Amino acid sequence: MKKPISIIGAGIGGLTMAMLLKQKGFEPTVYESAPAIQPVGAGIIIANNAMQIYKKVGIHHKIEQAGNKVSVMKITDAQLKPLLVMKLSKYESVYGVYNVAIHRAALQHILAEETGFENIVLSKRLAQIEKNENYKLGFEDGTMKTFFSAILQT
Ligand SMILES: Cc1cc2nc3c(=O)[nH]c(=O)nc-3n(C[C@H](O)[C@H](O)[C@H](O)COP(=O)(O)OP(=O)(O)OC[C@H]3O[C@@H](n4cnc5c(N)ncnc54)[C@H](O)[C@@H]3O)c2cc1C
Repeated sequence: MKKPISIIGAGIGGLTMAMLLKQKGFEPTVYESAPAIQPVGAGIIIANNAMQIYKKVGIHHKIEQAGNKVSVMKITDAQLKPLLVMKLSKYESVYGVYNVAIHRAALQHILAEETGFENIVLSKRLAQIEKNENYKLGFEDGTMKTFFSAILQT
């Protein structure tokens, strides 16, 4: 039987964790306080080290296609005269992934799809966590969920 796991927050961190645990055979449920996963935020850069994680779980191509590969980064002055130029191609060839500029919402959508929208519960704000023998998650709407504590071994 798959072990259920609760994750609070359907942001980049929560959804990445949910997707990873799902691939490892767990049954994650993500509780998100917002009523919808809306296209909020701005462009962010997913660095090579983070892309290596997404490569391990097989979604780096999806992220690259939804964003723009960044092979050179420049720090410039106000007139756009380069002060520092960083070529990233060395890391691309070593690790087989790119730095990717992507809208946060596009990344979040990919991660939500991989997690499965059916595993994301919206309008559910965590209010408290109690720990006695088990863990109890208390939500703002008055509902409660009880979990057995578990030690995860990798
Ligand atoms: C301006 C800015 C620029 C950034 N640029 C970059 C960048 O270029 N590259 C990069 O890698 N990172 C960047 N970051 C950092 C990156 O956005 C964060 O590291 C990342 O979003 C953290 O993910 P998270 O899931 O922990 O939090 P979030 O993405 O903030 O998600 C948290 C989620 O939890 C929900 N939530 C909160 N409280 C509760 C509750 N009590 N119950 C239920 N749900 C709850 C929220 O509604 C939200 O959906 C940037 C951040 C900012 C602010």
